[in-house]
Amino acid sequence: MIRHLLSMTILLGVMPCLLPARTAAAAEPTAPESVVKCAECGMSAEVAGRFTARIVQRGNPLYFCDIGDLAAFIERTQPKEYTASVHDALSGEWIDVSEAFFVIDKKKFASPMGWGVAAFKDRTGAPGSPMNFESLRKALR
Ligand SMILES: [Zn+2]
Repeated sequence: MIRHLLSMTILLGVMPCLLPARTAAAAEPTAPESVVKCAECGMSAEVAGRFTARIVQRGNPLYFCDIGDLAAFIERTQPKEYTASVHDALSGEWIDVSEAFFVIDKKKFASPMGWGVAAFKDRTGAPGSPMNFESLRKALR
């Protein structure tokens, strides 16, 4: 949590420098296109896709075709400071991984790489036994 707050502070502090034409309030990174390349497997992914995930390091967003690919990328590269977001499976809105509830169900969630992970903003909307991001990463190792 402290690391997350620290990275948010750094991110917010750096944003105005990186984006001089924008206001400081524009913290949401914008994708160059609606379809991006997954930073883990190289597959195309729709930014608005239900299972698409995003990590931001030093203001640079990287996208993933599958929430499981985001977890695999973090395990592989061990980034020190980052923010990561996923889509709420019900509303489609971006939510921070630290606030999301994750469910693994390969039958219910046919995600692009077959990890079968969906994210939920509210615990009550998540089926089965939802877990936090740390537990998800351990479960997918
Ligand atoms: Zn991928």
